[in-house]
Amino acid sequence: MLRVAVVGSGPSGVYTAQGLVQQSQVPGVRVDVLDRLPCPYGLVRYGVAPDHEKIKSLQNNLRSVLEDERVRFLGGVRIGPDALPASRLRELYHAVVYCVGAATDRHLGVPGEELPGSWSATEFVSWYSAHPDSAAEGFVLGARSAVVIGVGNVAVDVTRILARGTAELNPTDMPQSALTALAASRVTEISMVGRRGPSQARFTTKELRELGALPDTEIVVDPRELELDPAYTDPSGLPAANRRNVEVLRGWASAPPRDPAARRIRLRFFLRPVELLVGEETGGRVGSVRFERTVPDGQGGVTGTGRYEDIDAQLVLRSVGYRGVPLDGLPFDARLGTVPHLAGRVVRDGAIAPGEYVAGWIKRGPTGVIGTNRPCAKETVTSLLQDAEMLLRREVPEDPLVALRAQGLTPVEWAGWQAIERAEAELGASLGRRIVKLPDWASLLAAAARTAGA
Ligand code: NAP
Repeated sequence: MLRVAVVGSGPSGVYTAQGLVQQSQVPGVRVDVLDRLPCPYGLVRYGVAPDHEKIKSLQNNLRSVLEDERVRFLGGVRIGPDALPASRLRELYHAVVYCVGAATDRHLGVPGEELPGSWSATEFVSWYSAHPDSAAEGFVLGARSAVVIGVGNVAVDVTRILARGTAELNPTDMPQSALTALAASRVTEISMVGRRGPSQARFTTKELRELGALPDTEIVVDPRELELDPAYTDPSGLPAANRRNVEVLRGWASAPPRDPAARRIRLRFFLRPVELLVGEETGGRVGSVRFERTVPDGQGGVTGTGRYEDIDAQLVLRSVGYRGVPLDGLPFDARLGTVPHLAGRVVRDGAIAPGEYVAGWIKRGPTGVIGTNRPCAKETVTSLLQDAEMLLRREVPEDPLVALRAQGLTPVEWAGWQAIERAEAELGASLGRRIVKLPDWASLLAAAARTAGA
């Protein structure tokens, strides 16, 4: 029996587990999906915006994999030198597939980036998604205008959540504290700012259009700014996705003025952040962001013009992409933020490391939508199955869970996760809402301990 540990229960981890058990090439594969959190689903639970119910419902597909009798979910198990060392994990399984994503955010590297009131978008996302490691709060407290730096899908998510009203947030599974804070938010002006042109924005058209459908929210674009981009005037040479974005923006630029709305989203382009400035009356918090006007350099990039513009913001969300972090005992390409690999096989010092694999963002970098993880995981699974004969030559314990327990670890198993789900439904019912997520370690672990019969 080939025993595989998959580290990470987000989409790439679950698709890897699915690929390993739903095949006939190597019979009898058993997969343990480990996660440092007591809850499965990775970014589907802790990254997909709470108002994106349809994407969130992907959890049902992931659930059916984790409920397969050949797959076991083991939550609350952290791989690391002071927890379960990677070397020990390797002893317990024939193969280990790391599907740990990109755990941190990229930095801007400009003065003032760390001022109070300036956050990475991932900190904001973690807060409203109830990530138990999220310690921050007070994002919107006292803020009237916000700047979101970056024009990817995460930037669109955080912009949309800032612009949503209570009535739309109430049905989501957002934790009660975040809902209360956002309901009291007085942020009415949100600028989402790209350093390059509209034809180079990274958001997808469906997500962009959604901004235009927000109730009581006006979208403002300046046609003169959009026209700085030659591909805006003539989008015929653009890839279809970018052309559709341009068409949506063009529609907004030419739309007749609408009735004044409660909130305004300004989509800005060709502005490069150079400094975050303290506000005059903000008590040391950020008060504005200084941008340098850029122009296309003719090669897909931009150059500065030496002209500057300050945009008021008492809340700044830096949404400039995720970044992988080095893993205990694994090689790491610091430039790309990924683990070097060949078709999913980890490469150490130029040679393939037997029995170690990667899939998802730690393999290819933080790009693509959830579905992109399917072919990515498939490639890794194909490599692993090709190696099966060699992997099976090494003896591993009969049941790694027994060995984990003997080491003092107490993984949260599927029944524990189901108990968390029940607790979240009960909490929702008690608050007159639907499901409401538990936002901290203590309440998650207490709920997990209340398994049936426990
Ligand atoms: P992203 O798509 O890589 O976008 C990053 C943005 O930050 C780009 O606009 C980039 O501009 C900008 N940027 C990078 N460095 C910058 C700097 N120093 N100064 C100013 N701007 C800078 O990253 P993301 O939004 O974090 O998304 C990550 C992945 O998750 C993407 O594949 C995304 O599609 C996916 N995702 C999907 C959904 C969904 O499907 N609904 C939701 C969320 C996330 P340049 O292009 O100029 O570098």
